[in-house]
Amino acid sequence: EDPAFWMDRNVQVGVLVRLRPISAAESTAYGQKRCLIQDSSKTLSWTGHPETMFTFDHVACETISQEKLFRVVGLPMVENCMSGYNGCLFAYGQTGSGKTYTMMGELSKDGNELSNDSGLTPRIFEYLFARIKEEEERRREDKLKYICKCSFLEIYNEQITDLLEPSSTNLQIREDIKKGVYVENLMECYVSSVKDVMLLLLQGVANRKMAATNMNSESSRSHSVFTCVIESHWERDSMTHLRFGRLNLVDLAGSERQKSSGAEGDRLKEAANINRSLSTLGLVIMTLVDVANGKSRHVPYRDSRLTFLLQDSLGGNSKTTIVANISPSICSSNETLSTLKFAQRAK
Ligand code: ADP
Ligand code: MG
Repeated sequence: EDPAFWMDRNVQVGVLVRLRPISAAESTAYGQKRCLIQDSSKTLSWTGHPETMFTFDHVACETISQEKLFRVVGLPMVENCMSGYNGCLFAYGQTGSGKTYTMMGELSKDGNELSNDSGLTPRIFEYLFARIKEEEERRREDKLKYICKCSFLEIYNEQITDLLEPSSTNLQIREDIKKGVYVENLMECYVSSVKDVMLLLLQGVANRKMAATNMNSESSRSHSVFTCVIESHWERDSMTHLRFGRLNLVDLAGSERQKSSGAEGDRLKEAANINRSLSTLGLVIMTLVDVANGKSRHVPYRDSRLTFLLQDSLGGNSKTTIVANISPSICSSNETLSTLKFAQRAK
């Protein structure tokens, strides 16, 4: 697999489709019947009616390892970040398609070691810290130093909860001329090793489950956003230079159509909110592609919490990667088609 695409300076949005293996439940219901044929490393055909071919920046087959996926999308994201771009990574797809496996994978209990099943987030930080060490050594004369701090939040029903401090609910997004867009009172933790990051991830994932139980919902209906701000400072010509970078790693709510038929009151509002933030994200990304092609367009960042929160990291000096997760089984053929359409529109 060739990661060169993601290093291209002119590319602002990259879209990768990841197929997961057919699950035991799918196999029991439908055997090995598939709704997809992978034609090449960039194209995929949906074999329903009418048969439709899609083209993406990359199609990762069912057997791609977590390590290899990292080499294709994670590593270039860190390299871009080291050279001054912000990065946003989204996992999109219906519930059960592999979003969390892609973003987190298996998290070891003590946070000590990565395994074959570790997902993109731990691998990204393992690589980031290695690169930081390298750069600090290479530019010792400049006294180059990096400082990283992380936050972890959840957006459910257009409300923000701090996953590192779950008593902080209904947090507000603020805008400041100096700070840009930020979440008021959100906990930020300094990290300097993969272990530090792993412990935050474990804590956040446990709190996400708890929050979901308390609200009688499922984590599949919320978006989780893990953010790392990377500050670097160095000295040259007797001046101190400062630079900020940002990585946002987003595990989106399940993209399956939320049933609004029969739902009333809060449930109806919830269904509408989930659909709204996903469709706004799609619109924002599509508009950014137009802007990158020289068109002047209004970008509707403010139409959802998720896009408002990420507006400084989408567009401008940023690179966005979408990993669209799908199952090849005929079992969820229609949801798979709608994921492919979403991913295609982002191109
Ligand atoms: P989602 O977060 O989209 O709801 P999950 O990541 O929880 O989906 O995946 C659903 C199940 O499928 C989990 O048991 C997960 O371990 C498994 N799975 C997902 N993707 C893969 C993959 N590429 N290889 C092996 N198992 C996978
Ligand atoms: Mg999940």
